[in-house]
Amino acid sequence: PAPASPIVSARDPRFTPTLYAHVGQEGSHTLSYYLGHGGYEAFKRAVAMGPDAVIDEVKKSGLRGRGGAGFATGLKWSFMPLNDGRQHIVLCNADESEPGTFKDRYLMSEDPHQLIEGMLIGGLAMRATKGYIYIRGEYVHAAERLWAAIKEAREAGFLGKNVLGSGFDFDLQVHRGAGAYICGEETALMNSLEGLRANPRLKPPFPAAAGLYGLPTTINNVETFCACTHILRYGAEWHASMGTEKSKGMKLFQISGPVRRPGVYELPLGTTFRELIYDWAGGPLEDIKAIIPGGISCQLLKWSDQILDTPMDYEALVAAGSSLGTAGVTLIPSSLSIVQTTWNSVRFYAHESCGKCTPCREGISGWMVKMYEKLGRGYGQPGDTQLILDMADNIGGRSFCALADACMGPVLSSIKLFREEYDAAERGELIGAGKRWREV
Ligand code: NAD
Repeated sequence: PAPASPIVSARDPRFTPTLYAHVGQEGSHTLSYYLGHGGYEAFKRAVAMGPDAVIDEVKKSGLRGRGGAGFATGLKWSFMPLNDGRQHIVLCNADESEPGTFKDRYLMSEDPHQLIEGMLIGGLAMRATKGYIYIRGEYVHAAERLWAAIKEAREAGFLGKNVLGSGFDFDLQVHRGAGAYICGEETALMNSLEGLRANPRLKPPFPAAAGLYGLPTTINNVETFCACTHILRYGAEWHASMGTEKSKGMKLFQISGPVRRPGVYELPLGTTFRELIYDWAGGPLEDIKAIIPGGISCQLLKWSDQILDTPMDYEALVAAGSSLGTAGVTLIPSSLSIVQTTWNSVRFYAHESCGKCTPCREGISGWMVKMYEKLGRGYGQPGDTQLILDMADNIGGRSFCALADACMGPVLSSIKLFREEYDAAERGELIGAGKRWREV
C-alpha cells in the first residue's frame, strides 16, 4: 500500500507555487497531470537557450545544493569538461537517509516528472546522455512511481533518442539501494551503482573529472534538480529574489519531534526557527531543550530566544555554531537525556560506518559507542567525558569520508552545550531520562 502523504505539507502562499505545489493532489504523479500544469515547458526553454546559457542561468539563480552541503549548483555544473569526447553522466542522489530528513521521498512519489525534467535540464546543460537516480531501498513506493513516470516520459518522447526533436539524446535509469546510509556519500554511491562495495573514494578527483565508471559525472540531490526545473520555468531572477543575500530560493524544511504539526514546509531560506516551529508547525507539545537544525550530523543548538530568532540559511546557522544541512529540524524535549540522545546518534553512525578507515571503524564503531553505552546505562565514571573528547580529537578530520566528522557533530556540541548532563552521567545519574525514555 502507498504510504500516506507527509503528515502536513504546506507552502508559504506569498511565493509562486513550486516544489511541493502538487504534493497530495490527485493524480499529480502522472504525465497528463504534469503536462496540464506547465510540465516540460522549462525543458523546452532550456533547449531554446542552449547548454551554456542554462548553466549561466543556474549560476545566476544562486541555487546551492540541497543535499546538505550547499555547494553552488551552477558552479558544480560548470566543472564538467567540454568537448572531451567521453560520455557524460548526471546522477541524482535520492538516497535520502539522514535522520530527520523526509522531503525528497514525496517529491519523487508525488511529482516524479518534476525531477525527470530537472535531470533533463541538467543533462542538456552538461552534455550528458545518461542519467541515474540512486534511490534508497526503503523508498519502494517512490521507486515504483519513478519507474512508471520514466516509462510514460519515454513513450511520450521526453526521454530517449532525439528528445522532442532537439537532437539531444538522454535516458534515465532508477537504481535501488539496499539500506546503507553510506551509499548517500557521492563516491560510495558511485561504487554501489557500479556493483562494488559502497566504500567512499578519495577526493580529488571530484566526480566531474572522474565519476561513475571513471566518466565525467555530476551528482545532485533530488530537491536540487527539482529546483532547476522551476529556475528554468520562471527564470534566475525570480529564484534569486527569494531567500537571503547568499542563500537564495525556497527550501523544503522538515520538522519532527514533539511538535503539533510535524511535516514538510516549503518556505524561503532565512525563515526563522520561531516561524517554522510556531507559525507553521503549531508549536512544541512539551518543554524543549535542544534543536537539531538539519539532520543529526549538524551540531545541536540550545533552545533559547536567540536561537529561535536565527534565520535558517547557510550562513546564519554556521554563525550560530551549526549548519543548515538537510534542513531536517528535530526538537529534543527536556524529558530526554542528552547523553542518551547522543548515544542514539552515535549508535546510528557506528552501525552505518562502512568500516574502511580506522578512525571510523575502531573509533566510532568500537570505542565511542561503548563509552556512550557505559554512560547511557548509568555506569559512568569520572573522566569518561574527557576520554570521549580525546577520542573525538583522534576521529574528527582524520577519516576517509564525512561520516566520522558527521558523528562528531552531535558528540562535541552536546558536550559543549550540556556539560552538566555529562558530569551527572559520570556520577551514574541521567538528567532528563524520565518517563519518555525507552531502552535504545
Ligand atoms: P562536500 O562539501 O564535500 O561536497 C558537496 C558537493 O560539492 C559534492 O558534490 C562535491 O563533489 C562538491 N565539491 C566540494 N568541493 C569541491 C571542489 N573543490 N571541486 C569540485 N566539487 C566540489 O560535502 P559532502 O560530503 O558531499 O556532503 C556532506 C553533507 O551531506 C552534509 O552537509 C550533510 O548535511 C549531508 N547529508 C545529507 C544526507 C541526506 O540524506 N540528504 C545524508 C547524510 C549527509
